[in-house]
Amino acid sequence: MNTTPPPQAQPVRPTRATKRVLLASPRGWCAGVDRAVAAVEKALELYGPPIYVRHEIVHNKYVVQTLERNGAIFVEQTQEVPEGSIVVFSAHGVAPIVHAQAAERKLATIDATCPLVTKVHKEAIRYANEDYDILLIGHEGHEEVIGTSGEAPDHITLVDGPADAANVEVRDESKVVWLSQTTLSVDETMETVDALKTRFPNLLSPPSDDICYATQNRQIAVKKLAEAAQLVIVVGSRNSSNSQRMVEAALAAGADTAYLVDFADEIDEAWLQGVTTVGLTSGASVPDVLVDSVLTWLAERGYTDVETVKTADESIAFSLPKELRRNLRTQPVDDL
Ligand code: SF4
Repeated sequence: MNTTPPPQAQPVRPTRATKRVLLASPRGWCAGVDRAVAAVEKALELYGPPIYVRHEIVHNKYVVQTLERNGAIFVEQTQEVPEGSIVVFSAHGVAPIVHAQAAERKLATIDATCPLVTKVHKEAIRYANEDYDILLIGHEGHEEVIGTSGEAPDHITLVDGPADAANVEVRDESKVVWLSQTTLSVDETMETVDALKTRFPNLLSPPSDDICYATQNRQIAVKKLAEAAQLVIVVGSRNSSNSQRMVEAALAAGADTAYLVDFADEIDEAWLQGVTTVGLTSGASVPDVLVDSVLTWLAERGYTDVETVKTADESIAFSLPKELRRNLRTQPVDDL
């Protein structure tokens, strides 16, 4: 799902002897990440530290470290948050049981779940209410999958890739639907769906794409870079699903090599051996300041010619979580 049709396809100039960088557009920071990070910043501004955040607000080391310096405390479990405190739920979403645990501890909660993840939760609830078996395509153990599965654990079965499709059991083959994590590889997900359809010909598809616009647009962009770049650098953290998928997409699209780095100083000079064209992009949780530092690092090594390769326009923005529009400190906890 692109937010707008791709603009006029831009031909990427052929490789030349001079060193150059092809810079993807769109890249980095998506609407859901922007909203989640802004929610923590706003909570710090309104209520002062500490503000507890359950799980990394977004999967990016730099963002988490910056918020920590400003007074955010990251925890993995709700039980780690002192009673009566304020806790923000991350962009990846949480299961209903987490809301219940927070209420038991009398926590004031701010739910920064990306609205596009919430959409998948709602689909899961709807199909579970209609008694479908839901095949959730996603990566085992990923925070988002744990949250979505928690909406209807008795109806949801995780399918982690095409090979997993062979092992799935359902109660009624005529009443099966697939949903997916928002940050998967588009190509691999369709392979998984095809494998599931050979087993369950009546398999129902979600009403609209679950893989979000940002994930899809960044994969399209990195594939375009990979047509002309020998080396593709994706700025992003190891635990970022959409960033990892971009590395895979670059390799599948023809890049000789592709690497994921959090910071410019992780780039190995040896990667540049014989490389005239470097493709550069970043995952959906990455602020552009990190891409700028990679551009500086490359310029210091002669890659001064930077060409933007644009494959889509993005204009989506989400408003802050509703809890930030009222005063959590004076609102009775039961009302939150
Ligand atoms: Fe939302 Fe997609 Fe960004 Fe995740 S990657 S926060 S689902 S817009």
